Amino acid sequence: MNENVIVSDPPSAGPLMHEDLELLHEVALLTPGDSHLEMCIQCGTCGGSCPSGSAMDHTPRAIFAMLRAGMREEVMKSNTPWMCVSCYYCTVRCPQDIHITDVMYTLKNMALKSKMFQDTTASDFSKTFISYVENYGRSFEIGLAGIHNVTHLRLAVRLPNMVPMALGMLTKKGMSPLPPKRIKGMNDLKKILKRAKELEAA
Ligand code: SF4
Ligand code: SF4
Repeated sequence: MNENVIVSDPPSAGPLMHEDLELLHEVALLTPGDSHLEMCIQCGTCGGSCPSGSAMDHTPRAIFAMLRAGMREEVMKSNTPWMCVSCYYCTVRCPQDIHITDVMYTLKNMALKSKMFQDTTASDFSKTFISYVENYGRSFEIGLAGIHNVTHLRLAVRLPNMVPMALGMLTKKGMSPLPPKRIKGMNDLKKILKRAKELEAA
């Protein structure tokens, strides 16, 4: 994919759209640390870098334009955050140091709380991600995307979704198709995750 190509952008998400910054500020406040979200210059690097772009209904760039326009319902209903495989490729390439991956997590939380996201497969995607982190201490993007597509997409749409995503991951992103090695300190991570679950339940 040409790195400058922006896919799936709605016409209404152009740079001249009406601004309503309340939603943008809400997302920035809910994202840990300084997300720099308000600094987006709509360059499209994130969308052109994303290995999951072909499965997203809007690119990350378009989502940020929609946030700036106050398009709450459209953003909450979008599958974009749920198709994010947390590879951080967009984040390291963003010229504005916007914490794009973290913002995707914020949007997932907001979508669940608002009950606007109706796709019941979404939580499965997150559970698969968490299982990789609990077992290996890291994400396994190809496995994550593959399991989700095989489990939830009909055969007719599975291949058109999976092939470009897998090729993007294997070639442009240089990701390994093999399961990851466990990180050092896996036992320490398990203790941290166990404590986090205890705090969440309290
Ligand atoms: S790469 Fe950064 S600045 Fe460019 S569109 Fe994406 S979030 Fe905005
Ligand atoms: S972190 Fe998510 S949004 Fe960013 S490039 Fe990876 S899959 Fe795409």
